[in-house]
Amino acid sequence: MAGTTARVDLDGNTISPMTICMIGAGGFIGSHLCEKLMSETPHTVLAVDVYNDKIKHLLEPDSLPWSGRIQFHRLNIKNDSRLEGLIKCSDLTINLAAICTPADYNTRPLDTIYSNFIDALPVVKYCSENSKRLIHFSTCEVYGKTIGSYLPKDSPLRQDPAYYILKEDTSPCIFGSVEKQRWSYACAKQLIERLIYAEGAENGLEFTIVRPFNWIGPRMDFIPGIDGPSEGVPRVLACFSNNLLRREPLKLVDGGESQRTFIYIKDAIEAVFLMIENPARASGHIFNVGNPNNEVTVRQLAEMMTQVYSKVSGEDAIESPTIDVSSKEFYGEGYDDSDKRIPDMTIINKQLGWNPKTSLWDLLESTLTYQHRTYAEAIKQAIAKPSAN
Ligand code: NAD
Ligand code: UDP
Repeated sequence: MAGTTARVDLDGNTISPMTICMIGAGGFIGSHLCEKLMSETPHTVLAVDVYNDKIKHLLEPDSLPWSGRIQFHRLNIKNDSRLEGLIKCSDLTINLAAICTPADYNTRPLDTIYSNFIDALPVVKYCSENSKRLIHFSTCEVYGKTIGSYLPKDSPLRQDPAYYILKEDTSPCIFGSVEKQRWSYACAKQLIERLIYAEGAENGLEFTIVRPFNWIGPRMDFIPGIDGPSEGVPRVLACFSNNLLRREPLKLVDGGESQRTFIYIKDAIEAVFLMIENPARASGHIFNVGNPNNEVTVRQLAEMMTQVYSKVSGEDAIESPTIDVSSKEFYGEGYDDSDKRIPDMTIINKQLGWNPKTSLWDLLESTLTYQHRTYAEAIKQAIAKPSAN
């Protein structure tokens, strides 16, 4: 039970209970982190966000075993003077706050750059000035495109891992031109990484930078028209879930040829736990967190999700389960894409001994079971409504 058994770090030392200021705690990753911190550790969380829907179950009722160890602070870090006080009274700050849906990068580039760079500046500054540890969430997108993507299509070098595996300490960051506003997010994240790194080098900031590689699972994003805007475009898991729930074809952007590696949120959270509780091994490092064994093209992902959804819902797939759309039609002007994202795991393995476990099929099965249970009825009602009027 949380709080009764002493926790030990990877070197066998007892871990003292700590206070964590978690910014963006109400989002997808934050909700999973809070859930595990409450149920498995004695740590206290000051949960900062503008929304709390995804962590409501942890905040209410007052009789929950961890009540008193999690406090929600509804504040926008853009303009709230309470932020410094919360960081000052914590041992560790975890910053997850960001605009991080690709549909926004080319359509709201200013908001994207402000959110991922300017709004993160005070967080870094307060941590540095008050000698507080910072775990900052960056992204695998800082790598941009692979070197291999610039080789001729038939070049045998494209098969050589040196041209596509993404390594924290050696891979370059390759973005498209400035007109391709897709890269506004990657560029802002890269600059905040460089700033944090420089604060570490020049002012002794104790930091860890996390580069998530497509973490997916329950509570990711929203289903348009149900718990998010009807016209909203979430990340691919929620887009495809929405299509499956509505019995519509899954939309493959530019043929669905891009490749991604997907990792189950619960595996990824284990890695973050190791960083939280092993500062001596995690500080000063940038970590890829992904599952190199779960690589698929987006088309293969669509096919697998269609199969898995049929299994968990008991419904046959529709006759034409996918449809091709152009990126311009789907995302608008200025979209571009990362071609392939396979994380190198050497550093995280060496420092924290961490490896992901869950296969793509298994993680889709548990996630789509959740999507079906949570949304199928609401979608049925939403579809029935217009015809009833
Ligand atoms: P999310 O959108 O679910 O969570 C972000 C949270 O930050 C939201 O709850 C949002 O309300 C909050 N937030 C944003 N701006 C804020 C502000 N000004 N003040 C207070 N709260 C604010 O996203 P997520 O998937 O949980 O991602 C968390 C972090 O991980 C982000 O920094 C993202 O860039 C990074 N990341 C995630 C993935 C992934 O696979 N999920 C991949 C790459 C990077
Ligand atoms: N994508 C797609 N159909 C959709 C949503 C996304 O084909 O309905 C593609 C998108 O173009 C990208 C991949 O799926 O190639 C992953 O998109 P996601 O939004 O999850 O974010 P990314 O991995 O690009 O950061």
